[in-house]
Amino acid sequence: MPDPSLIAENIQAVRARMQAACERVGRAPDAVQLMLVTKTVAVERIRAALACGEFLLGENKVQEALPKAEALHESPAIWHFIGHLQTNKVKDVLRFARLVQSVDRLDLAQKLNQRLAAENRKLEILIQVNTSYEESKFGVAPDQALELIQRVAELPHLQIRGLMTIGLFSEQEAPVRDCFKRLRNLQAEAQILNLPGTDWETLSMGMSGDFEWAIEEGATLVRVGSRIFGAR
Ligand SMILES: *Cc1c(COP(=O)(O)O)cnc(C)c1O
Repeated sequence: MPDPSLIAENIQAVRARMQAACERVGRAPDAVQLMLVTKTVAVERIRAALACGEFLLGENKVQEALPKAEALHESPAIWHFIGHLQTNKVKDVLRFARLVQSVDRLDLAQKLNQRLAAENRKLEILIQVNTSYEESKFGVAPDQALELIQRVAELPHLQIRGLMTIGLFSEQEAPVRDCFKRLRNLQAEAQILNLPGTDWETLSMGMSGDFEWAIEEGATLVRVGSRIFGAR
């Protein structure tokens, strides 16, 4: 049995640091949502986090998320998909994800749209941008993002709600912040396009190592795993 009190303490500590970061830059304390990233975390430990009043959960593997979402289907949990999504997993991701944060290419968006049409429903998404330019990272390149956004906005079953990025993995503050600034600049550029049916409110950026910088740069949703559940 995990130690639920430790998870509760960690959540409290993260929330306190989120609030302090908001205060430093004059943002309202409720301007940023906390997502708990539950990859590799067992259902019982997720339950301990839900018992603290948390409900926004993120998973990056469809096959891992499905049984967890099933086991917790009577809880208030809301799941987002945050990982690389293969087109052959589109049908399964729609079984649990309220929002897909990792739409980064047109063929994936088209497959999602097609499947949603068959199910006669819509899905909220974010566009994932590779703001660190690392080859190993997924996400559309920043200079191709607006073009992708325009194409995706034409798909009637997808509702764009903002942008997502994974910052550079670095201890150095400036280059990490540059990634977050890049995402925020793209948000402003996308807003100007005035595409029908889109809104750009959500900036999903910041993880265990950099969520305070992300909040100071304008994040509205931070995705925190190891700082709450321990090292994976
Ligand atoms: C794992 C993961 C996180 C959380 O990472 P931590 O460093 O454990 O907080 C956030 N976002 C994505 C996309 C992830 O895959």
